[in-house]
Amino acid sequence: MSTFNTRQILLTSRPQGLLKESDIARTETTLDHIDQGQIIIKNRYLSLDPAISVWMSDMDNNYLPPIPLGHPVWCTVIGEIVKSRSTKYAVGDTVWGMGNWSDYSIAPEDYVFPADMTLGLPINNHLSVLGAVGMTGYYGILDVGKPVAGETVLISAAAGAVGSIAGQIAKISGCHVVGLAGTQAKCDWITKDLGFDGAINYRKTDNMAQAIANVCPNGVDIYFDNVGGEILSATLKNLAKNARILFCGWMSTYNNDESLPGPHNMWQILAKTARLEGFLISDYFGDFENGVPTMANWVKEGKIKFKEDIVEGLENTPEAFLKLFNGTNDGKLMVKV
Ligand code: NDP
Repeated sequence: MSTFNTRQILLTSRPQGLLKESDIARTETTLDHIDQGQIIIKNRYLSLDPAISVWMSDMDNNYLPPIPLGHPVWCTVIGEIVKSRSTKYAVGDTVWGMGNWSDYSIAPEDYVFPADMTLGLPINNHLSVLGAVGMTGYYGILDVGKPVAGETVLISAAAGAVGSIAGQIAKISGCHVVGLAGTQAKCDWITKDLGFDGAINYRKTDNMAQAIANVCPNGVDIYFDNVGGEILSATLKNLAKNARILFCGWMSTYNNDESLPGPHNMWQILAKTARLEGFLISDYFGDFENGVPTMANWVKEGKIKFKEDIVEGLENTPEAFLKLFNGTNDGKLMVKV
C-alpha cells in the first residue's frame, strides 16, 4: 500500500486579528488510507487567498463551515494525483481544488477540477490568471457587471490578482477604468502597463468621495468591490444611474474581531436605482471549460497581463499569507511547495 509522508500546518486556535504563530502547529504525518471518492494530491503550489482568514474564523452562515481546529489550514492547491479511489480522476492527472497547507492533500473528488495543461501555459498560471482569482475577474465583470462600452468601471485592490484582471477585461469591453491601490508603484503599473485610465492611491487620499468624483466625472457604472469599508461608502456617493456593485470581497474587514458599522450611504442604492450583487466564483466552476480557454488566448495574445508572487517553501506559508493584508504581495500570492 502506498503511503505519503507530509508536513502539515494545523489551525490550533482562531486568530484574534492577523494570524500568529501561536494560532498554528507544524506537524508531520503519514497519509495512507483514503475513502471511496477521495484522492491524494501531491501539492505543487498553494494558493494564498484573503478569504482563508474568514475560513479560519468561526463566522457562521458562511458559504463554507469554519476550518475545524486541529485540522490543516484549507487552501486551493494544484498538483498531480498520486493516489485515487475516484471514478473521475486517475493517478497522474493534474488537478486543482480544495487542499491544505501541506505537502500532500486528501481531497474529495467533487472538490477538485482538471487543469487543462493542453492550453500550453505553466502549471502555476492555473492558480492565478486561469484559476479562481483570474476567473473571478472574468465572470465578475462579464456576467455580473455586464459592461457597456463607454461606461465607467471602478475597481478596488486593483493591482491585486482579481482586480488587475477585472480591470483589463473591463478595458477589453471598452470601458473607462479606474483602479484603487495602496502604493504609487501599483498605481503606475495599472495605468502604464495594464492600460487603466486612472488610479487613486487610497492610502494618500484624505477625501475618498471627492477623489473618486475627480477621476469618474460621469459617476461609477460598475464598482468591483474587493475591500468594502470606507471605500465602498465613498463609492456609493458617486454612483451613476442604474449602477451595478459587485460584492466580491471585503478585505478591510477580514481581520476585525468585532463587526464594524456600515456601509454608509446605502440610500444611494435607491436614489440611483443601483444593484448590489454578491459573487462566488464556485458558482462558475462548471463553466471554466468555456471561460478558461478564452482567458488563455487573451494571455497568449498579450491582451491580459498578470503578476505572480511565488514564495518558496511550505514552511514559509503562514508568514507569506500576511502579505495579503499589508499589501506587500506583488500579484497573485502562492507558495511553491
Ligand atoms: P490581492 O492580490 O488583491 O491582495 C490583496 C490586496 O488587497 C493587497 O495587496 C492590498 O493591496 C489590498 N488590501 C489589503 N488590505 C486592504 C484594505 N484594508 N483596504 C484596501 N485594500 C486592501 O488579493 P486577491 O486578488 O486574491 O483578492 C482580492 C479580493 O477578492 C479579496 O477580497 C478576496 O476575498 C476576493 N475574492 C473573492 C472571490 C469570490 O468568489 N467572491 C474569489 C477570489 C477572491 P494595496 O497595496 O492596494 O492595499
